[in-house]
Amino acid sequence: MINHPIYEKLIEITNKQNVMVDELLSNHTYTRLGGKADILVTPETYEEVQAIVKLANSEMVAFTLLGNGSNLIVKDGGIRGIVMNLKKLSSIQTTSNTIVAGSGARIIDVSREALERRLSGLEFACGIPGSVGGALFMNAGAYGGEIKDVLVSTKVVDPEGNLLTLPVEELEMDYRTSNIPEKKYIVLEATFALQPGEYEQIKEVMDDLTFKRESKQPLEYPSCGSVFKRPPGYFAGKLIQDSALQGKQIGGAQVSLKHAGFIVNKDGATASEYIALIHHVQKTVDEKFGVKLEREVKIIGEDA
Ligand SMILES: Cc1cc2nc3c(=O)[nH]c(=O)nc-3n(C[C@H](O)[C@H](O)[C@H](O)COP(=O)(O)OP(=O)(O)OC[C@H]3O[C@@H](n4cnc5c(N)ncnc54)[C@H](O)[C@@H]3O)c2cc1C
Repeated sequence: MINHPIYEKLIEITNKQNVMVDELLSNHTYTRLGGKADILVTPETYEEVQAIVKLANSEMVAFTLLGNGSNLIVKDGGIRGIVMNLKKLSSIQTTSNTIVAGSGARIIDVSREALERRLSGLEFACGIPGSVGGALFMNAGAYGGEIKDVLVSTKVVDPEGNLLTLPVEELEMDYRTSNIPEKKYIVLEATFALQPGEYEQIKEVMDDLTFKRESKQPLEYPSCGSVFKRPPGYFAGKLIQDSALQGKQIGGAQVSLKHAGFIVNKDGATASEYIALIHHVQKTVDEKFGVKLEREVKIIGEDA
């Protein structure tokens, strides 16, 4: 694979150390699931991202973007072609009331930076384990706050490799959605506008939200967060609980005992075990209550 023609071309674009061949993706996903990527590339500049997109286009090689892997399941057979991860674009810069964050920065770290700079508005994000890019992709939110409340603009690369600066209005953000998937934008950075606040007050809110999360969510295990969307008129977690599914385990994957809406990677689960458990939950809830649970998390890649 190291002789793959794409490998040779990629190391002309970015440092050799940023191009990994046959890289196990479970080492790069929050869920700890996923087989090998043919090539995992971690560019360091916007120009490199543009050049890689153009290369994938001209060579007609499949191209997949991976954030922190906290809202998707990569299958055990991994991903063919190029997988790009922007964790090296992770700078966080603050000027006055504005924070500019690279798409690979963790949104938790941006929230912490806001606290240190005594800026209010990102408290809600203090426990969301995704990257800035992943957070924009789905307009992440929690406890009444969401990305679109604080986002001013973003720099993205379009599918042709052009660099664009877009105001938040152009992302058509709504409840846990944006047009980023449809437009196939790659988020490079985000500019957030925050309000001056008091350190102690901001910290109190963050501590309170962290306490709520830690008491309700199984943060001690890898997971992909809430697996299912909220079905109209119901709560997914309650339906799962009432179906006596809490604690149900397939291989190393388990319906969390702490929060029925979560499936945890309790003990070295494979993606196929995790996905089998998702299907089992969907089938059982449908049989008991006639409610079809729709997945919130994405499943990508190939079977082993
Ligand atoms: C314990 C736990 C708690 C969670 N709590 C919340 C919560 O309170 N609120 C909430 O909204 N979510 C929550 N999540 C889900 C998840 O953290 C968010 O959806 C997060 O925004 C996903 O970001 P990511 O970087 O992990 O994206 P990934 O899972 O890696 O990717 C998700 C999608 O985003 C795309 N993407 C990633 N980076 C970029 C980029 N730079 N440009 C364009 N597209 C990109 C990917 O291609 C993929 O399609 C939780 C998850 C866990 C495990």
